[in-house]
Amino acid sequence: MEYTAHELALITDSEILGNKTEKIKQLIFDTRLIFSAKNNAFIALKTTKANGAQYIQEAIEKGIRVIICTEIPLVTPYKITWIITQDTHGFLRKLAHQHLQKISLPKTIGITGSNGKTIVKEWLYQCLSDEMRVVKSPKSYNSQIGLPISILKANEKDDLGIFEVGISLPGEMEKQVEVFSPHIGIFTHLGSAHSEHFKNEKELLKEKLKLFKNSEVIIYNGDHPLINHEIRKVFTNKILISYGTYAHNDILIEKPAGQDKAFKIKLLDGTIDVPFIHQDQATLHNALAVIATLNLLHIPHPKIVEKINHLYPVEMRMESVKGQRENLIINDSYNLDLDSLKIALSTLRQYGNKSKKVLVLTDIMNVKDHPRRIYSIVAELVNEQSFDQIYLIGEKITGFAHLFRSEIFTFENIKELLKNNSFKNIENAIILLKGARKFELETLKKELELQSHDTILEINLNAILHNINVHKSFLKPKTKVMAMVKAYSYGLGGHEIAEFIQHHNIDYLTVAYADEGVNLRKNKITLPIMVMNPELNSYDNIIEYELEPEIYSFKVLDLFLEALKKKGIQEKYPIHIKLETGMHRLGFHRDDLDKLLLKIKGNKLKVASIFTHLSSTDDPKERAYTLEQIKLYTENSDYLLAEIEDQALRHCLNSQGITNYPEYQFDMVRIGIGMLGYTSNPAIKPLLQNAVCFKTIITQISPLYAGESLGYNRSFKAKKNTRIATIAVGYADGIPRSLSNGRGFVGIKGKLYPIQGNICMDMLMVDLGQDPIQEGEEVIIFNGNPCLEQFSQYCKTIPYEVLTSISQRVKRVYIKD
Ligand SMILES: *Cc1c(COP(=O)(O)O)cnc(C)c1O
Repeated sequence: MEYTAHELALITDSEILGNKTEKIKQLIFDTRLIFSAKNNAFIALKTTKANGAQYIQEAIEKGIRVIICTEIPLVTPYKITWIITQDTHGFLRKLAHQHLQKISLPKTIGITGSNGKTIVKEWLYQCLSDEMRVVKSPKSYNSQIGLPISILKANEKDDLGIFEVGISLPGEMEKQVEVFSPHIGIFTHLGSAHSEHFKNEKELLKEKLKLFKNSEVIIYNGDHPLINHEIRKVFTNKILISYGTYAHNDILIEKPAGQDKAFKIKLLDGTIDVPFIHQDQATLHNALAVIATLNLLHIPHPKIVEKINHLYPVEMRMESVKGQRENLIINDSYNLDLDSLKIALSTLRQYGNKSKKVLVLTDIMNVKDHPRRIYSIVAELVNEQSFDQIYLIGEKITGFAHLFRSEIFTFENIKELLKNNSFKNIENAIILLKGARKFELETLKKELELQSHDTILEINLNAILHNINVHKSFLKPKTKVMAMVKAYSYGLGGHEIAEFIQHHNIDYLTVAYADEGVNLRKNKITLPIMVMNPELNSYDNIIEYELEPEIYSFKVLDLFLEALKKKGIQEKYPIHIKLETGMHRLGFHRDDLDKLLLKIKGNKLKVASIFTHLSSTDDPKERAYTLEQIKLYTENSDYLLAEIEDQALRHCLNSQGITNYPEYQFDMVRIGIGMLGYTSNPAIKPLLQNAVCFKTIITQISPLYAGESLGYNRSFKAKKNTRIATIAVGYADGIPRSLSNGRGFVGIKGKLYPIQGNICMDMLMVDLGQDPIQEGEEVIIFNGNPCLEQFSQYCKTIPYEVLTSISQRVKRVYIKD
């Protein structure tokens, strides 16, 4: 898009103050995604839950000069153009709608359904982008915000727009249709994933089908009885094309053709033979949706076969792993187009502080546009990030190397790059790998990675976010959330988790020791941080790094006051008062409170919070005791609050407290293991997602014949012939040796197999029986089958101990969509 501020205001009926001639090419709704201010406007989206207005200051600091919001919130020394609208979502909708009218895209495809939207969209793009100019939603932008933002990316030159349309609440599709009403509609799949807000599947389906109100053609999964029935009933005057494996479908998989793995597929006008690599139902259906669309668009049959042959999997996640020489590798090498490049570049700043930034970038494949134009846009985007070094790979992009401002290296392919000395010696850098699939940048990642053994602890940051939101749904909007990232986030990492969640509406962080807090500060974590065990020797660090101590006794208080005095601190220093209410561990008792008040009033202290810890929120049998604790806490904190002048926050709930005792949330709650998806409450369990997975691979499989013994001290002897898998984890990785000889199990291909023999330091052995399993197969230690709880039971302990016992040598891999 390209509009002046004046035009934006006119189209959307908004007020405007300031320079009306500012040119706007892009709207940004998340300040973390601002990496260029030029021609960008920030829209401060306001919902009942969140107000983007709190980020306006940040947007202005990042150079944005056009702000769209509901009211002018601040006086600033900069010349800002304000566009004032009462309804920021309505603004987006109106603008996107008018934009579509203006550019009048010759053809549009709208994809909805519970699963498969993104894959079908990306596959259609793969198939069609060298036939015509295609614009599509980036990643899985399909929400009330994502859809309009996607549509604003289209322009007059595009031939086809492919957009995903998602909903999660009743009534939302009508609003989406206000924005976008596709010529061709695709319905991929119906699940119950979002149905908590709908009475039943049918209601959900009916809502989604509203997207097709004005469509000429609907392409849909005809194997699903409900979809098939409803679409035929509701849309009697449209062209309907169903696909699937049942005989009534228009696009039909008939049968495997001959010996090879090809399928015969009936089209609207003939048949084709298509080989499939993946044959699971979902993949087949997604491929059929694509075939149906290509067929409808009159792509010649041989071309359809060729394109389907060349589809590659859509990876939607960006992973970061620790590399050798203190490097951090960000691997986003599954696809490369302008949108995904923009997104990758803009997320860079979320990753730690390294002294250098390095980019590895390849040719962009399958673009219709003129190379000169494409690569000057690429160079402009890249130059804004001021990389220290850029490695360009491929014959096209290297021809435009002069456009990039940085130290530039050019290569024909990965092999050449791997020989390069500068590349081999990169140190303490963030290295972004961004390339088209053909160039196989994954091999680079493998080269650069720190540990080469295949045992990893995979941490899914999106699941953590999901779990935080589930817990937040028990809270009032104003209740603050403190995230417990002690013991390096329960063993999951150093600063990575804190770094990720600090951008997601967390108000406080808590660590156990000052060192952990210092580590967070050194990694640019700016949230307030509470330290639970402020040790004597750590007070200087605490003050220097602006950490906030938990004060649980007069001894700690006196020593801390002394440290403050020594440092000459003049302002009131924030502290957190811990009350003892029944845990009998740390904290002040009722009798201490008067003396405590005297000390607080007589010194430069700001009571940031007053809290207690409940011993048994996870145990329904101890409900009475918990309520007793809360009562005592309420009384004692009331007593303190009545006397101190600070607006101290009150908090007493841990993760299970949040879900089991939400009525006692006070001003803040402290979420810990709940972020990782663990709860013992069966009603909450299904709402949470596993955020951690400990896995490895089978290193070797060998036969063990009846009578032979296995491992150290011959503790296992085979009763009959069997097969033994050796896997690459041992007690040095955190698998307790007590799981030896059948007391622990691991999961392979979804099934449990017993650990046999004694567990070794770096390896253990598993009895496979005669199951057809091969070397290199993935082995799940926990989360999946077995799950973390099951594994904890093998270890006769609780998930907390299991997680914090995984050794540091196990590589942590962070996954993010
Ligand atoms: C660890 C901790 C929590 C978090 O407990 P979870 O059970 O992991 O939610 C809360 N409060 C205090 C004081 C803690 O030490």
